[in-house]
Amino acid sequence: MALLTLALVAWQHWGMNLSLPISSLEGSLGWVEDDSPEKGNSIVDYQQNDAYHMQCEIRSAITYPYCNLFTALNREERGIDLSQYKTLHLDLAHQSSTRDSLRVYLNHFFRPEEQVWFPYKSNQQVINPREGRHTYTLELDEFYVPAWWVYASDLPPEQTKPQLTNVRHMVLSTGDSSIPREVSVILHSAELRGKWLSANQLYRGLLWAWMLLSLVYFSYRAIQYSRQAKSKSAEAEQLRSLNRLLDLKSQRFKKMAIHDNLTGLYNRAGMRTHLKEAVADYNTKQTPFSVLMLDLDHFKHINDTYGHEEGDRILKEFARVVSDRCRDSDVPARWGGEEFVVLCKNSPAKAAEVLAEDLCRGIREAGLGRDHPVTCSIGVAEARNNDGKDVAALFRRADEALYRAKNTGRNRVAVD
Ligand code: GH3
Ligand code: MG
Ligand code: MG
Repeated sequence: MALLTLALVAWQHWGMNLSLPISSLEGSLGWVEDDSPEKGNSIVDYQQNDAYHMQCEIRSAITYPYCNLFTALNREERGIDLSQYKTLHLDLAHQSSTRDSLRVYLNHFFRPEEQVWFPYKSNQQVINPREGRHTYTLELDEFYVPAWWVYASDLPPEQTKPQLTNVRHMVLSTGDSSIPREVSVILHSAELRGKWLSANQLYRGLLWAWMLLSLVYFSYRAIQYSRQAKSKSAEAEQLRSLNRLLDLKSQRFKKMAIHDNLTGLYNRAGMRTHLKEAVADYNTKQTPFSVLMLDLDHFKHINDTYGHEEGDRILKEFARVVSDRCRDSDVPARWGGEEFVVLCKNSPAKAAEVLAEDLCRGIREAGLGRDHPVTCSIGVAEARNNDGKDVAALFRRADEALYRAKNTGRNRVAVD
C-alpha cells in the first residue's frame, strides 16, 4: 500500500496528463463577431487555415467597441466540464496599431436545470500580449467573473463566482480601450492541460484507502488476538488442571513415602517425625514415652503353610487390630516384615505395658488365623537417661525385651 501510494503520487505528479487541444488542424470551429449587436461600427475580418486569424478595425462609435474571436472546444461545440484542467496554453501572434490588451473568456453556459435566465456566465482573464508570436499560460483557477457580467446578470453573490463546468468555446476579445486601432490576432493553437486526477482528489482517495485498509487490518488483528487469547486461556486451563493432577500425585507420593503399602500404617520414615516430636518433648519437658516392638509368632510357618497371600492378609488384619486398639496418642507403624512398632507418647513403661497386654490379647482373640490363632510377642521399653540423644539404644532395649518374650514361650509381653 505504501509503495502504491508513492507510485500514485509520483504518477500524479509526472504523468496522468490530460490534454484538450484547440486547433484549427484538429478541426475545432472558429468564428468572429464585431460590436454591431451593441450598435458599434467596428469591422472584423476572419480567416481560418492552419490558424485562426482575426483582423479587426476598432472604431469608436460606442464606449466599449470590440471584436471577438471564438474557437469551439470541440467539433460539436458541446459544453465541456473543465474541472479536471489546470492551465490554458495559448500560442498566438498579436499586433495592434496602438497598445492593446487581450481579454480571454471561457464562458460557462447555464443548463436548463440551473434555472438562470442569463444564457452564460463570463469567466475572464486579461493579458497584455507582446508584439509578435508568443505562448501564454493562464491558470484556470485565476479566471474571474468580470464586473460588467456581475452587474448585467443581477444574480446573488453565490451565483457570480467563476464556473467552468459547461464551457463550449474560448473567446479572445480586443481590450477595453475605445481608441480606434487596427488589431490582428492569430491564434495558432490553444491547449487545456490538466490531470486525470487532481492532487486533491488523489490525496482524498488515498486517505480513504488508508483508513479502510487500517480498519480492515486492525479488525483482522483484533479477531486474531481474541482467537489467540482464547487458545492461550484454554492452554492455561489445561496447565492448571495438569498442575492440580501433579499436586494430587505429589501428595500421593508424599503419603506413599511415609506409609506402608500393604497395611496403610506409617513406615519407618513416617514414624521418624513422631519419634522426633516425642524425643523433643522428652528433652524439653521430660515427658516420658515408650516403644512397643511387636513380632508375629511363627509367621514363617503361616506363610509356608497357607501361602504368602494369606500371610499378607493376616499382616493387614494384624495392623487393623493394632490400630483399633491404640489410643489417640499412640502411633503404630510397620517396622519391616512381620515386625511392628507402637510409639506410646506421654506414656511411662507401666502404661505402655497395659497397652501391650491389651494388644497381645486383642490379637489372640481376633482369630486371625484360619485353623489356629495367630499370636504375637511384644517387647516394651521406656525412654530413659540418654535415650533422648540415642533412640537406637531405646529400640535395642525394646528388641531385647521382645527377644525375651519369644524365648519365654511367645504370645506374651516382656518389659525392659
Ligand atoms: P518367630 O516367632 O521367631 O518370630 O518366627 P517367625 O517365623 O515369625 O520369624 P522369621 O523371622 O523366621 O520369619 C519371618 C517371616 O515373615 C519370613 C518372611 O517370609 C515373612 N514375611 C516378611 N515380610 C512379609 C510380608 O510382607 N508378607 C508375607 N506374607 N510374609 C512376610
Ligand atoms: Mg521377625
Ligand atoms: Mg516372627
